Amino acid sequence: MVEPNYIEETFGLLGKRALVTGGATGIGAAIAIALARAGADVAITTHASPGEDTAAAITAAGRQVRSLNADLASLDAAGAHVLVENLEAEFGALDILVNNAGIIRRADAAEHPQADWEAVMATNLDAIWYLSQAAGRQMCARGTGRIVMIASLLSYQGGIRVPGYTAAKHAVAGLTKALANEWAGKGVCVNAIAPGYIATANTKALREDPERSRQLLERIPAGRFGDPEDIAGAAVFLASPASSYMNGHILSVDGGWMAR
Ligand code: NAP
Repeated sequence: MVEPNYIEETFGLLGKRALVTGGATGIGAAIAIALARAGADVAITTHASPGEDTAAAITAAGRQVRSLNADLASLDAAGAHVLVENLEAEFGALDILVNNAGIIRRADAAEHPQADWEAVMATNLDAIWYLSQAAGRQMCARGTGRIVMIASLLSYQGGIRVPGYTAAKHAVAGLTKALANEWAGKGVCVNAIAPGYIATANTKALREDPERSRQLLERIPAGRFGDPEDIAGAAVFLASPASSYMNGHILSVDGGWMAR
């Protein structure tokens, strides 16, 4: 039976608390603001960019905000545990973790610098594992929680000149399923979003290369690059009670790229 307040109760996040990594810019900023507008109090991690605009938008939505400056590339398991423990002590128990922060390094595979490989693995895979383990442990103990990974089309495909990024994003898809299997029965849903080509710093070089840009746009059925806001609704959905029977799913939000 669908209740009269179905939308509010099923898709709303009132009273929930979220942590969004990389919430200062791009997809992370759009997700953090959307979660706040859906009712959640939101903490973001920032890095080089200060995240003032995101924080102001969360406040304007009438929600609590916290900004934590953290270099996730140098995070280890103990550091993630302390980050989550301190945040929960000060802000309250986390209901939602969005593992969004990530970098991309482009260079031909044969010459791909070791430093680029390591930076991508540390940021796009290791930090996600540490934070998911630290937050997931608490969520499992409480019997409720949502973890949303930001995967990629390169969780399915090989990509060009981004071997570390592709390897890390494939691993994120695997980790999503592995954690979902263990934690679904404990009330913790772990899922991922695979964004298509979204207009952020991540794709700036591609979009500014006329030939690459033309090739990509021809291949996208929607005929345009996505906006960060195109990803936000899927994140609200995967953070909400509406998705409580979804576990280990990789949701493509890609203008039809994978359907082609
Ligand atoms: P973006 O604007 O560059 O966002 C990346 C975020 O991660 C930034 O806020 C950045 O902070 C943060 N970050 C990077 N290194 C960090 C570190 N060492 N410690 C802490 N934070 C760090 O690009 P985006 O497109 O929104 O990327 C967000 C996520 O979406 C990434 O995981 C990316 O792989 C994924 N994605 C993007 C696309 C796309 O087409 N744009 C497609 C598929 C997946 P600073 O800028 O302050 O360093």
